[in-house]
Amino acid sequence: MRTYYMAGNWKMHKTVAESVALANELKQALAGAKDKVMVAPPFTALAAVGQAIKGSSIILGAQNMGPDTQGAHTGEVSPLMLKELGVRAVILGHSERRHSYFETDELINRKVLLAIEQGLDPILCVGETLAEREAGRLEAVVGTQVREGLKGVARGDLPKVTIAYEPVWAIGTGKTATPDDADAVHAFIRSVVATMYDGDAAKALCIQYGGSVKPDNVAELMAKPNIDGALVGGASLKAESFVPIAAFR
Ligand code: PEP
Repeated sequence: MRTYYMAGNWKMHKTVAESVALANELKQALAGAKDKVMVAPPFTALAAVGQAIKGSSIILGAQNMGPDTQGAHTGEVSPLMLKELGVRAVILGHSERRHSYFETDELINRKVLLAIEQGLDPILCVGETLAEREAGRLEAVVGTQVREGLKGVARGDLPKVTIAYEPVWAIGTGKTATPDDADAVHAFIRSVVATMYDGDAAKALCIQYGGSVKPDNVAELMAKPNIDGALVGGASLKAESFVPIAAFR
């Protein structure tokens, strides 16, 4: 049976107490979940959420990490620090990191390689802006982000990597790519991965869709052959909207 990977990115929302309350609700409601579920609380709540979800199958994720293990890097968080808190997955190259904090493909690639080296499973986010899509540059932009993001990743490590296709114009806007449009971009990403590795690697790759995923559109998106899960922002902030997404079937 097909297994989906449903991830919630809480972004810069929720105090520690609010995070724990949501984690407790999710732990209870998703006890029998068929699919892989991950939550990425803010850094400040990772330890407490890690404790709250202990004993459940929910994976603890981070929203970002620094590109080094230690040193004079004010404000950064090392993969070693994340692992100590029970973090197993890390979102890298989110469009908010690319556009608001000017993260480059080169920096994101360093983080992807370091995450793998340190035993954290990266979710590499890619996606075009509306201007890029309208200028006919979707494939050039997304293709480059995939190729540069995966540079140096060994074939044997590829199963640890998830790619999240998140059209920037669909994030937090209520606009969703149609399931067919999203599926076509996912198929394109697979074709890029096939040229970098091989067809089997491309077929096995987990590709999440992200961009205004909601309880009422999740089923039609997941029905598409190239969509293997969802990276959810806004709707992951409440159990009443995330549970029906994470347990959509
Ligand atoms: C995101 O930020 O990764 C995201 C997909 O947000 P939203 O679901 O709110 O569009």
